[in-house]
Amino acid sequence: MTTLEFRGVSKRYRLRGVKEGLLAVDDVSFRLEPGKTVALVGQSGSGKSTIAKMLMQLERPTSGEILLDGQPIKRHGDGLRRYRGAVQMVFQDPFASLNPYHDIAHHLARPLRLHGRAKNKAEVREQVDELLSRVRLTPPEDYARKRPHELSGGQRQRVAIARALAPQPRILVADEPVSMLDVSIRLGVLNLLALLQREDDLGVLYITHDLATARHFSDEILVMYRGRIVERGPADDVILRPQHEYTKLLAAAAPNPEERLKQLARP
Ligand code: ADP
Ligand code: MG
Repeated sequence: MTTLEFRGVSKRYRLRGVKEGLLAVDDVSFRLEPGKTVALVGQSGSGKSTIAKMLMQLERPTSGEILLDGQPIKRHGDGLRRYRGAVQMVFQDPFASLNPYHDIAHHLARPLRLHGRAKNKAEVREQVDELLSRVRLTPPEDYARKRPHELSGGQRQRVAIARALAPQPRILVADEPVSMLDVSIRLGVLNLLALLQREDDLGVLYITHDLATARHFSDEILVMYRGRIVERGPADDVILRPQHEYTKLLAAAAPNPEERLKQLARP
């Protein structure tokens, strides 16, 4: 059982000409647990991606702690490699995160080898096929040979999801995973993420500015405003009985989640 915890985490970026810099994340605490989805909701610039970057160890907190199973996370050597195996990420832009010169098999083989999940060519091929099947890119042999530009945006994001699953992570961070995709295919990708989460009992951080999908796909919602979590609770409570003015505004902008989901499902 793997839990990941932010405890009083802040991040201040240095800015040229601004003495105090910019406080992008201000005293944020939350926990990710197996089988649970936490949605981090807020408008652009509220600090969501900074939290994702700290989770991926692309940025370091200015203060506070990040704990994996109660222990401060390791930032070097084997400990860092194990962390990267346990905590994986799906980015917003599936094209930017794939290398145009390599085929899909290469993208999946790399993490499999790096994290010791496959030892020889036959094992790699077998697991690449299995990963592609899991994200419904079938028949897998066809997709394995393709390069990113031969796939649609939704298919590329499925490859990115398969790659994130390759090390057999316990925690998955998805930063606006469908916001660059065609509206008509968003729900399919979110449903796939939900299915994979149940299959692998993953702890998921779902970052979005869309309150309707946050409610539908998450157990708990954290509302972020200017670097702070201004409201949190079970998803339905936060949406149906928002306390903070900012959440009320967000909820008013997306008044009918059912209708919104239907819109997303429409071909
Ligand atoms: P979100 O993902 O919610 O849109 P971000 O975490 O990307 O928000 O950004 C939060 C704030 O931090 C923004 O004001 C942004 O301009 C600023 N910011 C993000 N990255 C950097 C950086 N590397 N250097 C300085 N400021 C940054
Ligand atoms: Mg962002």
